[in-house]
Amino acid sequence: MSLTVVGSIAFDAVETPFGKRERMLGGAATHFALAASFFDQVHVVGPVGDDFGDEEMAVLGTRGTDVSDVERVTGGETFFWAGRYSENLNVRETLDTRLNVFADFEPKLSPASRDADVLFLANIQPDLQLGVREQCERARFVAMDSMDLWINTARESLERVIGRVDCLILNDEEIELLTGAPNLVTAANEVLRMGPDVVVAKQGKYGAALFTADDHFWVPAFPLQTVIDPTGAGDTFAGGFVGFVAAHGDQPLTEGLLRRAMAYGTALASFNVEEFGTERVARLTADEIPERVTQLRRMTHFEDAPVELRD
Ligand code: AMP
Repeated sequence: MSLTVVGSIAFDAVETPFGKRERMLGGAATHFALAASFFDQVHVVGPVGDDFGDEEMAVLGTRGTDVSDVERVTGGETFFWAGRYSENLNVRETLDTRLNVFADFEPKLSPASRDADVLFLANIQPDLQLGVREQCERARFVAMDSMDLWINTARESLERVIGRVDCLILNDEEIELLTGAPNLVTAANEVLRMGPDVVVAKQGKYGAALFTADDHFWVPAFPLQTVIDPTGAGDTFAGGFVGFVAAHGDQPLTEGLLRRAMAYGTALASFNVEEFGTERVARLTADEIPERVTQLRRMTHFEDAPVELRD
């Protein structure tokens, strides 16, 4: 079984109250692949420029991730994003977005990437997402992300892609923006009517919620004493969630399986925020992950027992 991701591979400049990095490896596809590769063989599709070095490519290729569809554009520069976080890390301001090689990107998938049975369309222009979706006809589970920019500027295209995927993974505020619904539960139900069978609402430091026709499941973010940089947490969560689904392709996609996928996504995302960019997840080892999932289960589990209540 294998998993293809298409999306940004980037250099990021990030400033948080705990420090800054002028230029570090980033991008949605990068964060996703690092997390998902704990579960399955990943194929990454995306463009980079001449400035993308062997060292960065080696990080992208962690755990055998296939980078042969990473297109090196001669004379081009890699996608660049700069952002700054508020004092409590709640608000992120984008300072700069330079599309560079992304401006003329036309995803070309090798047979290996096209034949993957799970596909993740990271946040890119929705027409590009649709093009890739159409190339991967055999995928049994397709998930996607997006952002407010595309909701506001390319809504029709975006709705077309949403209608062609099994799972939408989006920030809670973006789900409300997309549907115009006044709260997350109503908004997620509206998205379910647009096509996907599964909706995952990312809620930043408050965790994530899963919606299907029959089930709701809410999981908090893993509580940490120190959060250094939230950049890429959403994509790392998606890598854990979709990677877990990919690794269980021999089993039916039950509510139980989806709930476990939420737990693994949450655990992976919690490592990501402990250091800048990919720094922590790049040296994460497989044995650290189940430990955190067990802790998460302990801190969210309770047994109900009858209690006499006064009228
Ligand atoms: P997240 O914190 O999960 O929302 O993801 C942050 C990552 O997304 C960074 O590493 C950026 O390089 C990348 N990114 C930021 N803006 C865009 C954009 N407009 N399109 C694609 N990727 C982006």
